[in-house]
Amino acid sequence: VVFSLLVLGSSSVLPTAKRYPSAHVLNVHERFFLIDCGEGTQHQMRKFRVPFNKITSIFISHLHGDHVFGLFGLISSLSMLGRTKSLTIYADKKLKDVLDSHFNFFDNRLTYDIIIEGLNPEKEEIIYTDKLLTVKSFPLKHRVPVWGFHFSEKKQPDKMKKEMIDFYKISIKDIQKIKEGEGFTTNEGTFIPHETLTIPSNKPRSFAYCTDTIFHPEAIPYIVDADLLYHEATFEEQHKQVAKETYHCTSKQAASMALNSNVKQLLLGHFSSRYKNMKKLLSEAREIFPETYTVEDGMLVEIKHGPSFAHTYFSEELNV
Ligand SMILES: [Zn+2]
Repeated sequence: VVFSLLVLGSSSVLPTAKRYPSAHVLNVHERFFLIDCGEGTQHQMRKFRVPFNKITSIFISHLHGDHVFGLFGLISSLSMLGRTKSLTIYADKKLKDVLDSHFNFFDNRLTYDIIIEGLNPEKEEIIYTDKLLTVKSFPLKHRVPVWGFHFSEKKQPDKMKKEMIDFYKISIKDIQKIKEGEGFTTNEGTFIPHETLTIPSNKPRSFAYCTDTIFHPEAIPYIVDADLLYHEATFEEQHKQVAKETYHCTSKQAASMALNSNVKQLLLGHFSSRYKNMKKLLSEAREIFPETYTVEDGMLVEIKHGPSFAHTYFSEELNV
């Protein structure tokens, strides 16, 4: 089952020729969740073939331009495309004023409703849940209120072994109970444990997203044991002081977050446009946390049940 992250933008404030500002799409079983929406997000969605009509909701980390300027164009385009289903945006509740004034000013009558769900600046909170997924927001620390997000699969019921159903002639009603964790007692009174009757379902996967933030170990409990952590790494270690002053992180600080929260793998993004390449930034992080990777626009990361994930680079040549 698909659980993957597509990077649409990996730059910080200023876009570069190769990197758009922050935007990501998390695909959970063909439900598409947009995480941040920097300028040009809809262009990147076209380029990397993200179906516009499948965006169910948008999660905005904070109200800085490089994370929200893409909303205006995308929201308009969704209306042009005739969307009728409401669109929920999880963000600082102040976003509502900005969107209202923008769309009123430009006389845009949208074909669908936008629902702004204000995030809690004080504490971790469950903000979204469906039968497959739970999403929590939690506070980080930046010059303005900012939230990280934690996406986790729900544990799915264990699968019945077919031969056991036949052998013990188990009824549909009992199958349901067994799937939920119970054992089974035969007519003769023999108890068959749950583990004998079922194949365990996969361990739920999780993805945590932290940007923009100063080094903030207080957030570790919210991201602990994630299969994949995306953490901002705006700066190299030589610019540690700038990182502190601007409430951002170095790649080493991001790596330390990954190490101390026991995540499996770390993705670094939100790079300062001052760096020509990310080699130094990456090697500095790997000194602390070897399972670290830097993102590129168009990079698809499949979050697997096993210890590793595949990287697929979308490109024009691949024609995907
Ligand atoms: Zn930013």
